[in-house]
Amino acid sequence: SPELQLIGVSKSYPPATRALQDVSVEIFAGESVAIVGPSGSGKSTLLAMLGLLENPDEGRRVIAGLDTDTASERELTRLRRTHISFVFQAFHLLEHLTVTENVLHALQIRGVSGGAARTAATEAIRSVGLQHRSHAKPGTLSGGERQRAAIARAVAMQPRVLLCDEPTGNLDTTTAESVLQLLLAQADAGTAVVIVTHSPELAARCDRTIRVLDGRVHHAAA
Ligand code: ADP
Ligand code: ADP
Repeated sequence: SPELQLIGVSKSYPPATRALQDVSVEIFAGESVAIVGPSGSGKSTLLAMLGLLENPDEGRRVIAGLDTDTASERELTRLRRTHISFVFQAFHLLEHLTVTENVLHALQIRGVSGGAARTAATEAIRSVGLQHRSHAKPGTLSGGERQRAAIARAVAMQPRVLLCDEPTGNLDTTTAESVLQLLLAQADAGTAVVIVTHSPELAARCDRTIRVLDGRVHHAAA
């Protein structure tokens, strides 16, 4: 069964923007999925629907087999904290904390602390190749290192689903390539990886592409 499923989802913003119209999407474990489309077509709204950041006006969502209409607030909070992680273009790192502290902070918010958190943080930072920078603050990191720190923070909880919004948007080609390889490695390890991107080259490297146009989706194989 899919990790994430949208069934006939619609979402409007006042006064009259139909951001998504009757969208159905299934995201499975271990696949990499690119979301592409012009600016304003609804990609970020789709990501917000998949990540439980906002609620749809119409339609259903099934996350890890749980229908979000009938799930309790407690169950939804648990899904947001443990099932799904985000990687954003602008990193959202806490500037006064080191790389390790950023990852530990995210784990603590999700209910992991102490030795388990230290082990998870060390492993996540190692997995993105940042162990030599683990005591650095974000302001002293390169763009690629910052994005790798953001990925370490996102994967430390070992989420089932990784939702990425333009994860390579601010990076030069070489750095973008290494970040993309990290994300695709997450998919190879069994995570469902969803990447909103403007880059056709990046999209072509994913298992499949979801094209968004005027709030409607068009599915295509890679
Ligand atoms: P998109 O990715 O399709 O541009 P977003 O929802 O990510 O859409 O962005 C919303 C708006 O913010 C768009 O008008 C986009 O051009 C602008 N925007 C997104 N990222 C940046 C950025 N890093 N710098 C400046 N403007 C941005
Ligand atoms: P994309 O990510 O493809 O650029 P978005 O999902 O950000 O597209 O936006 C889809 C449409 O919804 C756009 O017309 C955008 O202006 C509108 N929109 C997105 N978020 C909001 C919001 N919070 N309030 C009002 N309109 C919004």
